[in-house]
Formats: sequence, C-alpha cells, structure tokens
Amino acid sequence: MQRETDFCVECREMSSYSLQKRCVTKNIRGENLTFEITCAVCDTCGGFMSAPGIIDLNVHEIDEQYRKLKGLVSIEDIHTLMELYNIGKAPLSIVLGFGEITITRYLLGQVPSKEYSNIIRNALSSPVYMEQKLLENKDRVALAAFKKSMKRVSELKNIFIISNKMIGVISYIFEKLDEVTPLMLQKLLYYIQGLSFVLNGREMFEENCEAWVHGPVYKDVYNIFKQFGFNVIDDPKFIMFEGYKKYLDDEDKYIIDLVVNTFGQYGGKTLEKTTHKENPWLIARNGYGDDIPSNELITKDSIKNYFIKICNEYDISKEEDIHKYILKLSDIV
Ligand SMILES: [Zn+2]
Repeated sequence: MQRETDFCVECREMSSYSLQKRCVTKNIRGENLTFEITCAVCDTCGGFMSAPGIIDLNVHEIDEQYRKLKGLVSIEDIHTLMELYNIGKAPLSIVLGFGEITITRYLLGQVPSKEYSNIIRNALSSPVYMEQKLLENKDRVALAAFKKSMKRVSELKNIFIISNKMIGVISYIFEKLDEVTPLMLQKLLYYIQGLSFVLNGREMFEENCEAWVHGPVYKDVYNIFKQFGFNVIDDPKFIMFEGYKKYLDDEDKYIIDLVVNTFGQYGGKTLEKTTHKENPWLIARNGYGDDIPSNELITKDSIKNYFIKICNEYDISKEEDIHKYILKLSDIV
C-alpha cells in the first residue's frame, strides 16, 4: 500500500502516516457524546499529524454522527424532500410552518431542533402529511409553487396504497439487496409470507396474492413497480419507505433476512420456476393454460398449509435446507 507523507511536528521531518479510526468524547450542549473520527498517525513516532482535508472530514463525520445519535434529519434528507415534492427552499420553509429562511439555514449546516426535524421527517415519509401542510399554508406561497408541489403529492400517494407493514418489508428488502427487479420482489414477498406462517406462526402482511402467469403476484405492489419492467427498481422516491421499517419487529426481520440470504440469491426467473411447482400457485391456476392470465386468489391458508407440509422434508429455519429445496424445485440439480 502506498503511504501518504506529510510533515510531523514531533519528528520535525516529513514522515509517512496511516489513517486510523479513533473515538473522541465531546461535550455538546452539556452532554458528553462519543464520536468516531479519523486520525493521521505518524508511522515513525505514532503521534497524531495534521493531514490535508482531515479536519473537514471530521467536522462532517461528527455532524453526521450527532444527527444520527439524536435522530435528526440530514442535509441530504432536506435536499431529497425538495426534490420529491418539486419545491424550492423558501416555499418549503413556509409550507412546513417555519420561517422563510429556516430551510436555507439548515442547508448551510445549522442543525434543526428535534421538533422541526420531525416535521421534515413526516413530510419525507408521508405525502398525506405534506398535502395537509400545503393546504394549511396555501395562501402564504405562490399559487404556481403550490400547484407544482400538489401534483407531486398526488403522484406520490399512489406508492402508499399498500399496508404499512408491506411498505416496511419492501424497504427492508431494499436495504438488504442492492439489485431487486419487480419479478424478484414478488417472489421474495411470497416466500416471506410463507416462512412467516411457519416460523413465526403468523402472517407477515395482510395483502393477498394472485396466481398470475409468472407466479404469485401482489397486485398493488405490482402496480407500484411496474414501470421498471424487468429492470432493477431504482428511484429516489422509495427513500420515503425507509421510516416504515419501524413496523417490523425482530421476528419479522429474522424471516426477511432468511429469505433474502436464500431465495434472494437466485434470479427472479429461477424463483418463477420454483413457485410454478408449488401447490399454492398450481391449485389457484387449476383449469388455466400456461399463458392464460388469471386473477385467481392464492389464499393465505393455501400458502400456510403448503409451507407447513414442506417442513416435514426440509428444516426451513436453516439456510442450507432452503438452498436444497430451491435447487431441487428449480431443476438446477
Ligand atoms: Zn512523527
């Protein structure tokens, strides 16, 4: 590894250094808080050196960690909010009920209060909340700005037609898997529901799926993501789902992790094959030819009973056994 060099004040000469993480405690508003910062450590004497850019880096890192610790929104969150609702900083400030230049000051680095941060966060996770704020302050902003933002609100409302729990599950999948196509997502949701019935003894979400040509499909979820076709789902608006992970408990997360680590490692097409050999889809498709569309419901009981039966042959709490199951059904071995 090539080492950077700079002047060490202890050694009184140019010396190479390495960047290391250190913890520091700082007193902020009467409270002692610990932050992780980056230090340049002299390779010769082990003393701290001042490397170029390191102060800026640490100012930024401490700010970020402080906001995280206190549950406060970041500057990036505010940029996202403006982009999502197609609104400038001054009108946004007014719409949220702040002073006209408050958002401008936040964008320059001032840390928002918990109260104002929560207002921003609410707007970031709910178009209904934003709509309410827009209507409350309609007379205080230009009509054009109001209309532009309301248009976005009504578009964004369409991605919130599913249950809070379902949004939480999808958001958690996005956090765990980098590249998810709509087809893949549908299959993962179905397996998450199935494994939840068996391992947690309850449904994961209230939605029902239908037996479409390409496997089980949660229709409202399909409509939210259909624009991506066979491509990876990628749009900043889905950042809005992040706050919904609070609807998941540890047992839920355990199931999603298990499915992501197993079924999530195969392609959507492979999982289409596996679902086509499973009773829930087969029974609901009874009487339909291969390419004939159907909206037949796959009942939750049918999913539950199927996965309970599978447990006689495979221990589906073990990743290894799930892989065996997938390989067998998909004809890979
Ligand atoms: Zn030194």
